[in-house]
Amino acid sequence: MINEKKLEKACELILEAIGENKNREGLKNTPIRFSKAFKELLSGYNNTPNITTFDSEGFNELIFVKDINFSSFCEHHLLPFYGTVHVGYIPDKKIIGLSKIPRIIEIFSKKLQNQERLTMNILNILKTKLKPRGIGVVVESSHMCMTLRGVKKNNSKMKTLYFDGILKENKNLRSEFLGNI
Ligand SMILES: [Zn+2]
Repeated sequence: MINEKKLEKACELILEAIGENKNREGLKNTPIRFSKAFKELLSGYNNTPNITTFDSEGFNELIFVKDINFSSFCEHHLLPFYGTVHVGYIPDKKIIGLSKIPRIIEIFSKKLQNQERLTMNILNILKTKLKPRGIGVVVESSHMCMTLRGVKKNNSKMKTLYFDGILKENKNLRSEFLGNI
């Protein structure tokens, strides 16, 4: 569980560390605002995905949900990374309610992450709950630790692709998947 008081203290320490006057007008309530913002931005620590599935009724073609926006925090720099996720699967017996996929992404992304793990987290939970014939997850994002600092490559994006089942084995199906993005 996130400790709001400790987040406030951490913010005060940052203000002190950079030599700011934490009592000046503009900063007076900053620790409280910071704490509230981080509680929201890291809400994945306080939530677990709740997944309900439905009978696929024989539908056995690709189901694709694309351009799902997300933002997360790079665990190496505590700086945001943000972008889009595309998820596709070929069901066997079960399908999932459409709104559940963005909800899953929301929970896994609102933690300290790296993009590779985020991609795997999304795929693995859907694989476990749906037991689909095939599944793929593509995450494309900008990392502020790369665009604003360090090498400062403003337009660079990181893309991770992860496949399982017949989407991993079958090249044509994978091309169909990638063609949907
Ligand atoms: Zn980073």
